[in-house]
Amino acid sequence: MKTDILGVRFDALTLSEAAEAAGAMLDRGEGGTVVTANPEIVLRTRKDEAYRQAVNGADLVLADGVGDLLAARILGTPLPERVTGADLTPLLLQRLARTGGGVFLYGGKPGVAERAGENLRAACPGLRIAGTENGYIQDETALLRRLETDPPPLLLLGLGAPRQELWMAQNRRLPSVMIGVGGLLDVFAGDVDRAPASWRKLGLEWLYRLAQEPRRLGRMSKLPGILTLALRERKVKRKAP
Ligand code: UDP
Repeated sequence: MKTDILGVRFDALTLSEAAEAAGAMLDRGEGGTVVTANPEIVLRTRKDEAYRQAVNGADLVLADGVGDLLAARILGTPLPERVTGADLTPLLLQRLARTGGGVFLYGGKPGVAERAGENLRAACPGLRIAGTENGYIQDETALLRRLETDPPPLLLLGLGAPRQELWMAQNRRLPSVMIGVGGLLDVFAGDVDRAPASWRKLGLEWLYRLAQEPRRLGRMSKLPGILTLALRERKVKRKAP
């Protein structure tokens, strides 16, 4: 069941339910698309209709940020919990490792996906790295041909938003399960750390990442925007007859 939050149709799932749903897609082998929609993505959909359609067209739309949960609560349609790509992806990789399945890593600067692949192979015995490609190639023809002729069960797209969501919408015909994972390949490569669990529990992952990458400040200062929008929409709803 989808829950509309500010025009984005979220799936109201816990992390384990989302892993089950995406795992079922892997088992079916017919592909599927997963968007982890942080508040930045939600705000962008408000300004760009084509992007909103790309996000809402995904099979699973998950609440990646604390801001999503707060907005949902303000609107009276709470979502169960935060489901980040960083939490969901390892569960799917473990599942693939058990079945001998493969993952293709597309994105990041040259060398990032290869290093991420080496680390994942070491961390998940049984996982097959079906291939890697950096996210700055100019011509995707050979890559697309490769993904069509020998589709990997799972395709991680670390191209950043909005590119990865638009890419998935445009390439839905591919029979792989696809997830837009943002900067997660940099984390798997060992170039960027995730926040410690204690920070994550307090909802402070954004602060940890900000300390690591101060260039994020401009983007994060937009975050209160989602709460302002939710409060405004609640007011409009209450006034409606
Ligand atoms: N990236 C890419 N190709 C592009 C633009 C970005 O591969 O054309 C990669 C970039 O190297 C980084 C990721 O996309 O690995 C975006 O990370 P960011 O931290 O901005 O995304 P977030 O995790 O916030 O979604």
